[in-house]
Amino acid sequence: MTELIRDVDSLRAKLALARERGRRVGVVPTMGALHRGHLALLEEARKRAQVVVVTVFVNPTQFGPNEDFSKYPRTLEKDLEACRAAGADYVFSPEATTEIYPPGDETRVRVPETGKHLEGAFRPHHFEGVATVCLKLFQIVGPAVAVFGRKDYQQLQLITRMVRDLFLPIEIVGHPTIREEDGLALSSRNAYLSPEERARARAIPAGLGAAVRAYDAGERRVSSLIAAAREPIAAAATSIDYVAIADPATVAPYPDDAVIDRAVLAVAVRVGTTRLIDNVVLGEGATV
Ligand code: AMP
Repeated sequence: MTELIRDVDSLRAKLALARERGRRVGVVPTMGALHRGHLALLEEARKRAQVVVVTVFVNPTQFGPNEDFSKYPRTLEKDLEACRAAGADYVFSPEATTEIYPPGDETRVRVPETGKHLEGAFRPHHFEGVATVCLKLFQIVGPAVAVFGRKDYQQLQLITRMVRDLFLPIEIVGHPTIREEDGLALSSRNAYLSPEERARARAIPAGLGAAVRAYDAGERRVSSLIAAAREPIAAAATSIDYVAIADPATVAPYPDDAVIDRAVLAVAVRVGTTRLIDNVVLGEGATV
């Protein structure tokens, strides 16, 4: 049975009891509007922990002033049903202004190097919001393990870094990206796409796939790999924020004239007004 909990104190009390009984707690942080990608993380958490908490919280501090905070899909009833069917123990869905950021709250967490590239360059306070809310959620839940998607590759690296730097006793697990049949990564934001835009969004995995094929054929030059990815994407996207090849740990982009071995190819594009991100790690046999 899945229990919906809305306040910090109740959740802490229940999880303290579970831990006292020697049960391992796992957490899957989400912003809700759950899809198969989120549920795959939940499955993964269930394999690694005896009590699983899915957090559903549209975190205001990770959105910029002109971003989609107010229109972000909120589907708590459906999310709860999905979590019930998938066997979560608790769904934690707190209010922002009373529970997570109550009056007087001011402490923020920064991961300056891993947070400054790629998404960080386009969304200035985004990762400060992400790191802060994840640390708060970790402190509330007290998990032994937390599962994140590789879909948000930079976020996964940043949380891994934060946990290491702050000596948090939490195992961070990265789960592979779950995709639609045509390769598009599942995302709550895909709901914004019109049918015509949805068809154009197929160019994103097509671009990643083209770069993977070039890599598999022996291409190692950053400029050529980026060109391979950009071609289909540029033809279909409304605009491109970046197509970058970056260090897999720090996500610092490599210069165009670099030659790489293992690296992450990350993209952020707009299709219509919807901003979508995706990535693939080159050099680990990934397919898109
Ligand atoms: P979000 O609700 O979009 O903030 O995502 C919550 C968690 O689900 C993050 O760790 C994401 O990386 C992960 N996630 C989102 N989409 C996918 C996907 N298509 N495949 C795997 N994980 C995902």
